[in-house]
Amino acid sequence: MSPAEIKSALLVKAQALGFDDCRVAPALPAAHRALFEQWIAEGKHGDMAWMARNVERRTDPRVVLPGARSVIVLALNYYQGSGPENDYRIARYAWNDDYHDLIEKKLRELDAFLTSQGGTQKPYVDTGPVLERDFASEAGLGWGGKSTMQIHRHLGTWFFLADILTTLDLPADTPAKDMCGKCTRCIDACPTQAITAPRRMDARRCISYLTIESKGSIPLEFRRAIGDRIYGCDACLDACPWNRHAQESREATFQARETVFSKSLRDFLALTEDEFRALFAKSPIKRIKRPAFLRNVCVALGNGGRWDDLPALAAAAADPHPLIAEHAAWAIAEIRQRHSG
Ligand code: SF4
Ligand code: SF4
Repeated sequence: MSPAEIKSALLVKAQALGFDDCRVAPALPAAHRALFEQWIAEGKHGDMAWMARNVERRTDPRVVLPGARSVIVLALNYYQGSGPENDYRIARYAWNDDYHDLIEKKLRELDAFLTSQGGTQKPYVDTGPVLERDFASEAGLGWGGKSTMQIHRHLGTWFFLADILTTLDLPADTPAKDMCGKCTRCIDACPTQAITAPRRMDARRCISYLTIESKGSIPLEFRRAIGDRIYGCDACLDACPWNRHAQESREATFQARETVFSKSLRDFLALTEDEFRALFAKSPIKRIKRPAFLRNVCVALGNGGRWDDLPALAAAAADPHPLIAEHAAWAIAEIRQRHSG
């Protein structure tokens, strides 16, 4: 097949596998390499030390895959509507199973097809050493919004990104135009002012970082702003007007997990180690482990809890794990202060 025919066949296969978009960028160094290096140098990645490793690999696909000629960028919609009402919020992408396994399976099928056409590939689902949002913009899949998230004209912000680096020289698509215009809704909506300027993120202030990536105590200055968010944050995404046309995903595995969303904050607080692991089996939430999850639950209870939550929090304040005990004690003090006020 000619490169154009391989690309056409690839698009058909990607669509049949459930991907919502598939485009191609040339395998050249990432456009925002200098900004990425500056961001790392300023320490704005916080404790995410893995981001500072292999900067050269991360910004040049040819270092990751010698002979790489193209970067195939794929989008998979995970939007599931407004979801269940609870006394907490979980970022939409984590409502059910971890997306990595599902997408990796699909990528393997595309990889097999490209291999049959003489290519060598490296597929990645946001775990690879690749600045995938840069390549998504280069491939015209979307543009880098002021929130730093990738925006797709039709999917909005609710999609997973995946990449396949290949040695095949496929026809490249045209880069997308920046359609943010004068809008600043994402910046205005951020509860912790983590978006310090358009397309500038201080991860150390971001609720997604504080509730997922950070393993230690949550700094006091951010606890109230976290509100009822116990895993991640969608505030800058919810605010984006490009989400007004978002359609529900065809993938049933992203629907809110009934066994999780039937529980309240107080139910979460009572989870034993085994119950935590069973409840969040295959979920991305399992990754942060029980102490960090209960830490987040305590913060949400401190922000929205009532007098009758105090006994459960008192039990958590006696937990042998200091992370849980400290955040439970903070939550008790917050509830008492509100009630005495
Ligand atoms: S995820 Fe939340 S905290 Fe992080 S930048 Fe967006 S709105 Fe701010
Ligand atoms: S909210 Fe506005 S500024 Fe932010 S990413 Fe969306 S369109 Fe761009």
